[in-house]
Amino acid sequence: MSCVKSEGIQTDKNPQGMDFNSSEIMTPRTPAMTPKELRNGGRVKTNAVAPKGVYLPNNNIQTPQMTSPEYVQLSTAAAITLGLMPGDMYNCSCTRCLNLLLTYPEGCRANCAYCGLARHREADRDYADRNFIRVDWPAVPMAQIADIVAKDGADSPFHRMCISMITHPRSDADTFTVLKTWTDRVDPDDIPISILSNPTTMTRDDVTKLRDMGSDIFTVSLDAATPEIFDKTRGKGVQSPHSWKKYWEILEDARDIFGPKKFGAHIIIGMGETEYEALHLVQKIVDMGGHSHMFCFFPEKGSLMDHLPATPRDQWRRVQLARYMIDYCGVRVDQMTFDEEGRVSDFGLPKPETEMIVDAGIAFRTSGCPGKFAEDISACDRPYGDSPVSDIASYPFQPEGAHLKKIRQQLNMEKPGETYVKGEEFEDL
Ligand code: SF4
Repeated sequence: MSCVKSEGIQTDKNPQGMDFNSSEIMTPRTPAMTPKELRNGGRVKTNAVAPKGVYLPNNNIQTPQMTSPEYVQLSTAAAITLGLMPGDMYNCSCTRCLNLLLTYPEGCRANCAYCGLARHREADRDYADRNFIRVDWPAVPMAQIADIVAKDGADSPFHRMCISMITHPRSDADTFTVLKTWTDRVDPDDIPISILSNPTTMTRDDVTKLRDMGSDIFTVSLDAATPEIFDKTRGKGVQSPHSWKKYWEILEDARDIFGPKKFGAHIIIGMGETEYEALHLVQKIVDMGGHSHMFCFFPEKGSLMDHLPATPRDQWRRVQLARYMIDYCGVRVDQMTFDEEGRVSDFGLPKPETEMIVDAGIAFRTSGCPGKFAEDISACDRPYGDSPVSDIASYPFQPEGAHLKKIRQQLNMEKPGETYVKGEEFEDL
């Protein structure tokens, strides 16, 4: 079954109209120099405004001096679910993962080209006001968050809590303290804990300690699918401290310490890798005993890649489907076939079985650490973190009806007589 279309759509950001993001076009801008006085959170530290409870970003007030472990940031979806912010999300009543982010006036000291939190933004936006995976991240005292969740315990809407460590000299020690603040109030058996690690500053002993303190799953955000893309987007290419080698060391430590199905790697699709490269990486992680968590590249506003095209949906859907088959259906990458551009041309299963997996829709949901519904349904649903609602990449809900029709069209796998009409999935709105 050939799923490859010959042409993509021409847009300003994708002038060649390619149906995949090639390595030639996916080149980050060069980071600008930050004036000395604005480096390391200079503006926030000079103003030294004391924090008072919840801080909502971009609220036209001076950003207070908030620091982990007392403060953390949480996703807009988590803040809505906790009742700390008003708001609605299309087709989602809540998020199932409480994503927390360590916070410092100096912010993350890395400079990853696709990330809204990167250091090069110091001059134009204080750390706590930066967008990350398309949304704002309010800052809240950690004890307040844990107290609210502890009231509901196992009945909480959250199926998982995740601490994102970011890159900061204090982030190892502060992650332990944030974790302790949580486990003092919330039983990890009621709400399992994931760690989104920062390998650059970590040791194997840190990985062991995080497991011993009650963490369930440990993940490493490789993000790039090849060492070259890693270096170009989050290493020397953008004056960032990360190295592919160190990330793999910590991933292998996680395999040894957390064990099968309890570790994973984040991979962003559409940063210049081929589908062949991405899916061989997925297979490697499965062969190690772990899972991969996929993100669709989106040009995050203010990042060094905000001028580049989002991943074309046909490329993204092929990789989503193939990754799901490798992770959960026992299909191996060597059963699949690829064309001369490295695109999946056959998924390696008979057509009816492939169609059954597509129709089940789970392959197209957000991927990540599991919650309480099923092993292959991620608690971490990150509503609209890698796309706008109008062109959903990772579905934070079960895609059905016209949403599935649209997915089948993107995969070039429409059923006989079926035609997706643009916008029909939103007709009831
Ligand atoms: S280390 Fe993580 S948070 Fe920091 S810039 Fe890179 S991707 Fe963003």
